[in-house]
Amino acid sequence: LAPIHVIGGGMAGCEAAWQAANLGVPVILHEMRPTKKTEAHQTDGLAELVCSNSFRSDDFENNAVGLLHEEMRRANGLIISTAHDHQIPAGSALAVDRDGFSQAVTAKIQAHPLITIEREEVPGIPPAEWDSVIIATGPLTSPSMGEAIKELTGEDELSFFDAIAPIVYYDSIDMSKAWRQSRYDKPGPSGETDAYVNCPMNEEQYLAFLEALNNAPKTEFKEWEKDTPYFEGCLPVEVMASRGPETLRYGPLKPVGLTNAHQPDVKAHAIVQLRQDNKLGTLWNIVGFQTKMTYGAQKDVLRMIPGLENAEFARLGGIHRNTFINSPKVLNNKLQLKNQLRIRFAGQVSGVEGYVESAAMGLLAGRFAAFERLGREISPPPETTALGSLISHVTGGHLIGKATFQPMNVNFGLFPDIDFAKADPETGKRYRGKDKSRAKKRAQSARALKDIQEWLGTQS
Ligand code: FAD
Repeated sequence: LAPIHVIGGGMAGCEAAWQAANLGVPVILHEMRPTKKTEAHQTDGLAELVCSNSFRSDDFENNAVGLLHEEMRRANGLIISTAHDHQIPAGSALAVDRDGFSQAVTAKIQAHPLITIEREEVPGIPPAEWDSVIIATGPLTSPSMGEAIKELTGEDELSFFDAIAPIVYYDSIDMSKAWRQSRYDKPGPSGETDAYVNCPMNEEQYLAFLEALNNAPKTEFKEWEKDTPYFEGCLPVEVMASRGPETLRYGPLKPVGLTNAHQPDVKAHAIVQLRQDNKLGTLWNIVGFQTKMTYGAQKDVLRMIPGLENAEFARLGGIHRNTFINSPKVLNNKLQLKNQLRIRFAGQVSGVEGYVESAAMGLLAGRFAAFERLGREISPPPETTALGSLISHVTGGHLIGKATFQPMNVNFGLFPDIDFAKADPETGKRYRGKDKSRAKKRAQSARALKDIQEWLGTQS
């Protein structure tokens, strides 16, 4: 069999190579380190963790990333099984000894009889003889490969940074304080006039909020991030706040064209708006709140917003150097470039966020490419699974209207809902508040594990 070429030996590339090789297909894995370095990697090991040593929660019953771990474990995932072998104590999180982890992944890949590692940069569009290619070059894709991807996908379909606003689960918003309304009741495409969730602040609340924003600890821009042109259209919210007490009131928090449904006679001093973020309506982003506040500080500060006191976050905000394609436009649901089917994308560059999610996309791309090489059929995993929900995210299944695509961590908001309005469909039990949201997650996990097992069964 002719080899599959995997470009990039990080989370996604190693997983893709492993999956394809274990299906009996030869792989050539191209990794540019140590001949060419990135700004963040420190070693020449494969699957190096560039920052935290955590794969986040390992709780598969209550947490979407834990569920993704479990699905990958069942699919013979290299990254997740090696992480378990090198686990160090971190409560319910799966944290690893980073050197031991990277060395073990490198050793397993080196020892695999069907994988050859070539330590070289692939600087451009691979030659036509490479008839099956997986590009997994990560958030710090080499500049020349970045240019090549731009050529492949089109000028406007490649981004070099994320400016992410935090995303809240709708059912954690206190709608006895917030209300649904579009500014000036301007109708949307289907005539709706309730497109936004609005959270009102009086003057005292606004000033306290500003002070908290200004004092919150921020993550520093790294030296090599400073030149990235973030500031053109999307200033971090705290930068706006630092420019003076009225800046936000004339920007994203302007209190005009909206009437408080609970207190129509009371004029708000400022209004924070949330915009629907997925088709299911389970996730809402806080408009204009891209931020460099640390994760811990974000939760404390954002919960000062009336209506968000008990907010649960599907994703926190951030601004990072990140290379990723506009995958909903350019990829099909087998992660192939629509205009050059021999090329697949995996990992962070394909539009997911995080070590685990990147490896998950590698797992899928490796399987898809290997099945194609073997002349066998494979369908993407169902959307009810964590793996399937990520495919659905990168191929735009959750995008609404003209919203721009942003990379995402896995979260239950990406899964089809289970209707708990009346009772748990399995047990008939009725739940309220937080109990309801916990029971719903457990039901979504149970459904996912059943469905992933069936999906894997079709491939044996
Ligand atoms: P990588 O793991 O980066 O692998 C890509 C590989 O491709 C690299 O080894 C690189 O050397 C190689 N490469 C690049 N270009 C070429 C080329 N042209 N030819 C050959 N090889 C090439 N996620 C988390 O979950 N937790 C964190 O704490 C975290 N911190 C991060 C910190 C930074 C600074 C960055 C940039 C990202 C961070 N991420 C984090 C996000 C992301 O999950 C990780 O970057 C993750 O490693 C992505 O996996 P990947 O396989 O897509 O890319």
